[in-house]
Amino acid sequence: MSKARIFDLSLFAAAAAVAFACPRVIDLDHTYWTALLLYWAFSSFYFQLRIVTRSGNSNIDYAISYTSSFGVFAGPLGTFLFETLYSFTVFLYKKKTKTADPGELLDTFYNIGSFTLGGTAGYYLYTLLYPYAGQLPLGYWLLFCLVTFVSMVLSSGFLVITFTLSGDIKTRKEALNLLLRSRNLLDFCKVALTNGLLLLFLQMERWDMLLALFLLNYVVSLSFYSKSQSAQHKYERDKFEQMAYRDFLTGTYNRAHMDKMMQELNQSGEIIGIAVADIDRFKKINDSYNHAVGDKVIVHFAETLAAHMQDEDILFRSGGEEFTMFLRHKSFESCMAQIQGILDSVKDHSVAAEYEEEDITVTYSASFGLYYYKTDADRKISMEKGYVYADQLLLESKKLGRNRLSYRNGLTPPGLSEQL
Ligand code: GH3
Ligand code: MG
Ligand code: MG
Repeated sequence: MSKARIFDLSLFAAAAAVAFACPRVIDLDHTYWTALLLYWAFSSFYFQLRIVTRSGNSNIDYAISYTSSFGVFAGPLGTFLFETLYSFTVFLYKKKTKTADPGELLDTFYNIGSFTLGGTAGYYLYTLLYPYAGQLPLGYWLLFCLVTFVSMVLSSGFLVITFTLSGDIKTRKEALNLLLRSRNLLDFCKVALTNGLLLLFLQMERWDMLLALFLLNYVVSLSFYSKSQSAQHKYERDKFEQMAYRDFLTGTYNRAHMDKMMQELNQSGEIIGIAVADIDRFKKINDSYNHAVGDKVIVHFAETLAAHMQDEDILFRSGGEEFTMFLRHKSFESCMAQIQGILDSVKDHSVAAEYEEEDITVTYSASFGLYYYKTDADRKISMEKGYVYADQLLLESKKLGRNRLSYRNGLTPPGLSEQL
């Protein structure tokens, strides 16, 4: 058996010894059993909302929640019985829902040991200092903060020891991080205030108030929990959508997004310029150097195009070294000027790359096809068809010697395409 597991079992044995060997300080009477039942019911109910520390293979529930008030109220044996009942309830629940880890049973013994010892330490501290605390203003609350602090430090300390023994924590920094980060001030205040109030209600046997506080705690946590869940879902959804619609190499939108946008724009009645751009003789760049250099050129081209996009224009990587632009809300002349700007920019710049451990610069050119029309006006021309027209115009640019723009304004009477 590993050292960590021996430590977990020793903790349990120490807790059992303290519980049974110490003089019975609290009567396990009717009040005790009522409190036990209520604490057990709510802790079990609350369990689904608990956040569990996962470090390497270990997975130990270290949240203190209601232990410190129950510890002070019930003494060592009472706490031990409660922790045993509660931890085994969680164990059986996890077994039933098949969420139990392989070492779950030993974790259960660890939890019983750790929380019982924490609660017991709290009990003795409280009993010892209570007479003095009464003389101070807000003495009860100061004392309860101290009790909570000691219980928390103890359980964090046990956690650090077991993680260190299991090898999940290797450095002192990691240990300190776990001690400090897992126990922030807000957590501390929440636990101290809740347990301080719970203990007062227990001592007064105000079961109604106790129930109300449990419920309040549950409702508040549930509301935060569902908010964080929905934020997490939204984050994952956005991330997934980003991955599904973005091209990995250039970060521009991909073909799937282009298809989606075309469908959306089909019925929009928008006047649009569909421009297709393709790097000239790109195969030669790949062949003269390698694919990595080719990729650099594609990225450079994408960045150049992106730098020339305006307002609501959208850029897509529609194929290997082919990009499509939706130029929106502008005149035909503006679309042409925009593409002329890109042609000039590509001509004036070169791509820095590395080839066979040498710094090289690669120059390239690109050809364009632009089809300008009003979507939806003539139902025969869908965006998909508009894209085919733009692609044909691009082909014309290629045939005519590349490094140019061929265009057609679909808003004027049909005529031949022209070149720029
Ligand atoms: P043209 O002027 O007629 O467009 O000639 P081209 O050589 O550019 O034409 P073609 O479309 O035949 O060649 C495109 C090449 O781009 C073929 C393919 O191997 C390469 N390619 C496609 N995607 C990538 C990519 O992501 N990275 C790299 N490095 N090459 C790619
Ligand atoms: Mg090409
Ligand atoms: Mg191509």
